[in-house]
Amino acid sequence: MEYEQMRAMEKSHVCAMCGSELVTIRDSENSVNRLACGKDKTHNGFKRRRSATERLAQGELDAVAGPGVQKDIEALAQRQQERFNMLPKADIATARALGLAEIEGVVTWANMIGLNAYLGHVCLYFGKPYTTIDGYYYLNNKRGEPYVIGTRTATANERKEYLIEEGWYCSIAEAWLLQEKIATIGVGIVTTDEKDVPSAKTPGQFRAPVVHLHPQRMAEKRAEWQLLRKLIPLEVKE
Ligand SMILES: [Zn+2]
Repeated sequence: MEYEQMRAMEKSHVCAMCGSELVTIRDSENSVNRLACGKDKTHNGFKRRRSATERLAQGELDAVAGPGVQKDIEALAQRQQERFNMLPKADIATARALGLAEIEGVVTWANMIGLNAYLGHVCLYFGKPYTTIDGYYYLNNKRGEPYVIGTRTATANERKEYLIEEGWYCSIAEAWLLQEKIATIGVGIVTTDEKDVPSAKTPGQFRAPVVHLHPQRMAEKRAEWQLLRKLIPLEVKE
């Protein structure tokens, strides 16, 4: 091994036996340079230095960065985890895990329209941000005079009007403002196909287990969501 190569290995490697720093020494007996353990010249072998992340995982950061650092970093990592636990982590349509930039984008978008991503006010649906039903109710409750929202099962006439097939679920959401009924309504539908479609990934399960178990409630929520979307325009907060 060349001298320059040894000097480079001092930076990238440590003693394989004790983990100490390496030094390049002159072996006068054989009149050559060789790499040796800085602590005990009889030690044999070198290994690659671990990264700070690896050292953190092994609980050795204090030795690298000073007393207390290991604990501080672990506490910070824990807080970061908790912070992200309350944020949307997957696209609700495709279940694709969101990247950090996308999560940050959702948080920024929520703030822009006076909502809070930590409270479940927003979600990503096919890669685009949407306000959830909780978000719309939050905005509704912040109005000087909030709408009162009610849901009911669609009538036979409404089922005919909205082309609802036998076995499908259909709910209607209605709103009142100062005891006056508003003309706008919301319609929520769950089809039998959607309710009963099997999971492609897990045999014996349904693709949408919540819809399968609670189709009526899901139709109601969709009706509420559509109505709230119509009634409460999103505004950018200055
Ligand atoms: Zn050693």
